[in-house]
Amino acid sequence: MLTFEKYVCPTTPQEAYDLVRENRLATVIGGMMWLRLADRVAPLGIDLSRCGLDQIEETEGGFRIGAMVTLGQLENHAGFAAATGGIFTEAVRDIVGTQFRNTATVGGSVFARMGFSDIVTALLVLDTEVELVGAGTMPLLPFVERGAGRDVLTHVFVRKHHYRAAFASVRNAATDFSALNAAAGLWRGSWHVAVGARPKKAVLLTGGDELTPLRKNFSPAELDAVCDLAEDIDYGSDLRGTAEWRRAVAPVLIRRAIESASAKEVAAC
Ligand SMILES: Cc1cc2nc3c(=O)[nH]c(=O)nc-3n(C[C@H](O)[C@H](O)[C@H](O)COP(=O)(O)OP(=O)(O)OC[C@H]3O[C@@H](n4cnc5c(N)ncnc54)[C@H](O)[C@@H]3O)c2cc1C
Repeated sequence: MLTFEKYVCPTTPQEAYDLVRENRLATVIGGMMWLRLADRVAPLGIDLSRCGLDQIEETEGGFRIGAMVTLGQLENHAGFAAATGGIFTEAVRDIVGTQFRNTATVGGSVFARMGFSDIVTALLVLDTEVELVGAGTMPLLPFVERGAGRDVLTHVFVRKHHYRAAFASVRNAATDFSALNAAAGLWRGSWHVAVGARPKKAVLLTGGDELTPLRKNFSPAELDAVCDLAEDIDYGSDLRGTAEWRRAVAPVLIRRAIESASAKEVAAC
């Protein structure tokens, strides 16, 4: 069981951040669905639930999602789903169950950058930024690659584009972690493709500033080339699958995600 010696409930993210900086061993609490699995005594728990981070704000430019917004809240947000081709709903619908998703948070999922995460894979192929007290605002990709220090994640911002996007995964059993996942998002004329649950953290295969783009109207050969790229990703083995199995299945999942996204209507902005 996880026990906190002291529990605080600050009312602003800045207050939470100051507490984190003052207490080297402080633990920020999101939905606590992951944290609760720990068996330790932690000196200080900082609960973000009164920091006003539980709203999804739609602006002309995008969706600003508070860190304490639950997976269920975002999954059921009709405007967000319509604007992003329903990719988030596809990514989370097999995560445990409705009650679980009504407690686990977007912020906890993104901050933890878990290797098996379906959420990170899906958000990586959209035009996504993270906002932190401390490190400031940055695109999701460098945050996933490098992580953050002892910062407090306040929002995830998804910029609006005329997206086509889809998510695909393989699970050995319903509601188990993905054994492998992939996502594809088309925006600004090129495809963004990510592969996750390798079982390491998700990686972007095409679409980043330094990556070869897959253009909107790709030829069969260009799609084959991207699928071939997936074979060079560094895969690992765990109880859900071997590296060899992942290397063989990733191209199939990528193709599936791109074809599924291509078949969708262009999302309204
Ligand atoms: C049984 C189980 C099955 C799961 N299955 C899946 C799955 O199939 N696919 C999938 O993608 N995910 C899965 N998850 C992960 C889940 O979706 C959430 O990502 C996870 O529970 C973390 O969210 P949380 O709100 O519970 O965070 P918490 O448990 O509260 O926190 C997680 C970590 O993030 C830190 N943290 C939380 N919020 C912030 C913040 N705003 N700023 C800074 N640090 C913060 C905490 O200190 C902690 O280190 C599963 C989790 C469990 C427990």
